[in-house]
Amino acid sequence: MPTCKSWKPKTHPKHETPELPGSCNGCWAVCRNKVPAGSNRCDECTALILNHPDSRVRRALIREDGIDETVLIQLSGDPDFSVALAAETRLEQLDEDSQNTTHTGADPWANL
Ligand SMILES: [Zn+2]
Ligand SMILES: [Zn+2]
Repeated sequence: MPTCKSWKPKTHPKHETPELPGSCNGCWAVCRNKVPAGSNRCDECTALILNHPDSRVRRALIREDGIDETVLIQLSGDPDFSVALAAETRLEQLDEDSQNTTHTGADPWANL
């Protein structure tokens, strides 16, 4: 079974406002929880990052490849406007991508 490849936020007494992932080993630990095949992050890390007090961390989640649509929908209701907007934009992009890949080129209305 694959393991979670996420940074996991933890409480660091030295930093009242947590530093960004990877920049401080006290604020973040590498998570090794087991995850289902095909996913890179466990539910625990997703929840922790979704509720992270630093909006930069929540925005970084939005820019990730293979981000879950349900996570984006949750973030589109974020109290921080810049996060909500970024999630909204990403959702629109995903929407366009799926339309482009599933579109066969045939117009179902053409022969009516
Ligand atoms: Zn720290
Ligand atoms: Zn994890």
